[in-house]
Amino acid sequence: MDIAVILILFLLGISVGSFLNVVADRVPARESIVRPPSHCFNCGHELEPRDLVPVFSYLILRGKCRYCGRPFSVRSMLVELAAGLLFALAFFTFGVTWQLAPALIFISFYIILFITDLEQGILPHVIVYPGIALALIIALLSPLTGTLPGTISSLEGLAVSYGFFFLLWALPRLFKKSVLDYGDVGMAGLIGASVGFPQVLVALYIAILAGALTAAILILWKLKKFNEPLQFGVFLAAGGLVALFWGSEIIDAYSMLLR
Ligand SMILES: [Zn+2]
Repeated sequence: MDIAVILILFLLGISVGSFLNVVADRVPARESIVRPPSHCFNCGHELEPRDLVPVFSYLILRGKCRYCGRPFSVRSMLVELAAGLLFALAFFTFGVTWQLAPALIFISFYIILFITDLEQGILPHVIVYPGIALALIIALLSPLTGTLPGTISSLEGLAVSYGFFFLLWALPRLFKKSVLDYGDVGMAGLIGASVGFPQVLVALYIAILAGALTAAILILWKLKKFNEPLQFGVFLAAGGLVALFWGSEIIDAYSMLLR
């Protein structure tokens, strides 16, 4: 039974992942997410349903266009696989409960923002702010569904996370250019609203630590200049995922330590 549910979640995940690829490619370019239909970027040939089966088509075609033989980017397949694995993993944390649905929704939002920030340095407002609205609506419905975070926790998460990142973004600008983009502030708000308080602290801690370490390594290897902006959304997405899956356990374990 569990195996069947996990398999269904994996298949759902790779299918959703294929849609997330389209959203991440087209929304920052302000293109429609339904038109034109998927096509090869080299020869322009429209891709048929058999070419669009998530993960499997890529493997069967060995990552090449059926019509012109040009290699497809491996990113689409990796995103489908990651979404499939994260959806399946969600079963172990949430089981088949009301909590599963919001988890899958927020995983999807985090994945889209991870891709757009990593590849283009953009966290589109048209993704971030509807995400925050959705997180608040889900939290408002929590007395009916029993999902976490509740309304207050979600609002606190939003206020703390958005507020903290607003200061991180705004204060350096008084003196010079900020390494953060305003998009990071919105995304921090989305993480806060979706995982709630205090779980959001786990997300912020991981994001800032991982972001600072990565920046230090890139600067030491001279791959990046000190003042260059960092794609911080990538680290927020990673921190958000950890907080979504294990935030409560980590907070509990930490408060036990402090006793
Ligand atoms: Zn082609």
